[in-house]
Amino acid sequence: MSKKKPVLFLILKILAVVFLCVAIVGIVFVITGFGDFENEWKFILGGILSGVGVFLTFTFAVIGFYPEIAKLSVRMTKHIQDETKAEMTDIATTQAEIQSDAIKTMASAAREGFNESDGETKFCKHCGEKIDEDSRFCKVCGKEQ
Ligand SMILES: [Zn+2]
Repeated sequence: MSKKKPVLFLILKILAVVFLCVAIVGIVFVITGFGDFENEWKFILGGILSGVGVFLTFTFAVIGFYPEIAKLSVRMTKHIQDETKAEMTDIATTQAEIQSDAIKTMASAAREGFNESDGETKFCKHCGEKIDEDSRFCKVCGKEQ
């Protein structure tokens, strides 16, 4: 699998490194310029450089390393899935069993409701056909009630 790596991401990575250097220079300026009132510009410039440098380093790094971050994220998700596969299967099986039981309960309740006698008719115990309440044999299947 040979994939052409976009030059854009390489440029963004280089920019991130460049601004990291700017941030480091800025921090050095802040430290060396601190309390040195004759070279106040050093402290102020250092503050600006470190602030801007850190911000742009972070921004370019996040965008520049996006393919790696995305790949890592996929790998992490896969790893988590592998780690939790047994538990997830267990949960899914349990849920399926609960749902299956619920459906069975509903089906049996529906059947009971359906089979409720209205006093004049009932349902054949064998084929489920509607027959007269007092009939001893089903008129369809002929079996005894
Ligand atoms: Zn019958």
